[in-house]
Amino acid sequence: MIEKINTFIHRLKELYEKAEEIGREVYYYFFRSQVTMSNSRLNMCSTCPLKYKFYYEDGLKGFPSAPLHFGSVIHKALKEYHLKFDLKGQHGTLDDLIREYEIAWKDVRAEMLDSVSGPPMHRWKVALAEAGCTMEEVEDTMRKFKIIYNTMEDEAIAKKRGLKLLEDYFKDNQANPNRIIAVEKPLTITIKGLDILAYIDRIEKTPEGEIEVVDYKSGQRVQDEETILLGGDNQALIYTMMVEKKWKKRLRNFYYYYLKNGNKVPCNPPKRLKDKIFNELWETAQDIKHRRFEPHQGPLCGWCDYEVICPTWKGNQAPFKGIFRAARERGRMTFSYSKMSCYRNCPYNYKKLYIDKISPKPKNFFAIGHACHETFEEFFTYPYQPSLTQLRKMYENHWHSEGYRDVQEERKFFEDGWKWVSSFYKKYYDGHYLKAAGVELYFQLPIGDDYIIIGYIDRLQKNLDGTYEILDYKTDPKLRTQEELDKDLQLTSYYWAMRQLGIDVKQLSLEFLQFNQRMTTKRTPEDIPVFIDEVNKTIGEMASKEEELKKHPEKADILFPPKVNKYCGGCDHLIGCPMENEIRTTYREKVMNLEEKKGSEDKEEDEKEEKEEEKFEK
Ligand code: SF4
Ligand code: SF4
Repeated sequence: MIEKINTFIHRLKELYEKAEEIGREVYYYFFRSQVTMSNSRLNMCSTCPLKYKFYYEDGLKGFPSAPLHFGSVIHKALKEYHLKFDLKGQHGTLDDLIREYEIAWKDVRAEMLDSVSGPPMHRWKVALAEAGCTMEEVEDTMRKFKIIYNTMEDEAIAKKRGLKLLEDYFKDNQANPNRIIAVEKPLTITIKGLDILAYIDRIEKTPEGEIEVVDYKSGQRVQDEETILLGGDNQALIYTMMVEKKWKKRLRNFYYYYLKNGNKVPCNPPKRLKDKIFNELWETAQDIKHRRFEPHQGPLCGWCDYEVICPTWKGNQAPFKGIFRAARERGRMTFSYSKMSCYRNCPYNYKKLYIDKISPKPKNFFAIGHACHETFEEFFTYPYQPSLTQLRKMYENHWHSEGYRDVQEERKFFEDGWKWVSSFYKKYYDGHYLKAAGVELYFQLPIGDDYIIIGYIDRLQKNLDGTYEILDYKTDPKLRTQEELDKDLQLTSYYWAMRQLGIDVKQLSLEFLQFNQRMTTKRTPEDIPVFIDEVNKTIGEMASKEEELKKHPEKADILFPPKVNKYCGGCDHLIGCPMENEIRTTYREKVMNLEEKKGSEDKEEDEKEEKEEEKFEK
């Protein structure tokens, strides 16, 4: 009898799933999205929807820049070379490729400068006037349209780098057994009423007749397959989905071709991620269609061409507008607390992450941490307390499927995260709900004469008595002691930042989700000089070591030595670390007894900052 009931329930579930799928098809058919999506549109929209609006809707072209010029030249030179030779069944020489490079260098420069004169320039002038910009800001913006490389020397260095890169490419290409069948191919397909556009750098046929797709990466950052896929890379997913739909067969391989070192990294996303990316494209298209263009303030604002006209940088942050860009241009060092803490924990790991720019491997504790943070970020924006059911819906919407080995592992983490979120809701928020005065508050502020500090504050709350409190979520596997909390420099940095912005914070709390416990501390103005001294000391040391490293790269291991610490067990660089043997033997009990998922303290912030930097580099 029980078996029969189970079978019946199972059938019912299947029928429901089928009906849901048909319902979605019908919906997509009748409510076609009029927005054409692409990987670049999706990326820009997820970085900042307002930035998307400025670029795509208002037609405000971005400033010419050296990385943009360099990448476009390489793509153009390779395209012209392959069109003239490989696609005509002929063999070109290295001289032919270099000739295309020289032509592309000049052509792309002229095209870039042309594309921002005339009507685009006029649109900018109107936007600057409407934003109430000063004469100085207008002149500064106009100047940026005329500059690609800061100096002739910078341009010469970039050009030499490109030459070397193409020489290596030419050698690799000669050994390629595949036949190139298309280059820079525009591809538009419609999936369930959504038009998607892509320009595919290179499509090849293997000797067995299978199709492979290659995407060139001309930047400095090099990643491996695991990092690309688990990190939620959209491009591989979108292109694979499109090519498979177009050719109605499975793609043999999608490759990222890192021209810097000649590595062709295969990226073959699992099906569940392909389904997910379609939903993401569809939802973003709906946001665009309904003109939902909310600003996302963050570290990239300092690099954003629209910062000067962006309404977000008004009010009490206005005096600091542009500071990040100015800081980098003047060689001032920018850092977040997590960057400083990474250096303090282990200089060797810091060098790998921030100087060698080896992307951190995505880990499932990042994904679970993001889901919890984002859920509460949304939760505290409502004027009245959302119910537990609404909280569950938010948690489901903010869940990230990347970073898990399989569906079972993902399900387990999903349930763990929900337990933390719902328990916290029941113990601390239910009946005591207050809409946050700010969530994911971003700040970038000058500190001392030489540094810029950036950070995010999870939640700023104005209590009923009118005092302010800062609350930060932690998914750490270990509770801190009160003493640790009282000395925590990250919390002092938040206290200091808020005072700089005119807000006097009465108390600061960490919410340890795994333990369903909130811990509270206080700071006074007397704590600030200690914090500034510590920053000056640590950052000064980091800066001088980085300078020394530029002059003496052979001293890397002396300048940035490994330092055994409690996070070694989950460190990306444990294999190959000079201390690996000692860590696995002498220190094993202290650092290896934690599962890999443990030890997430501070790492969510690291990853957030890294991701922002990656987006910028792309
Ligand atoms: S300055 Fe920041 S918030 Fe404004 S458009 Fe640019 S990225 Fe978005
Ligand atoms: S394993 Fe430990 S000592 Fe080695 S790089 Fe990583 S954090 Fe540093």
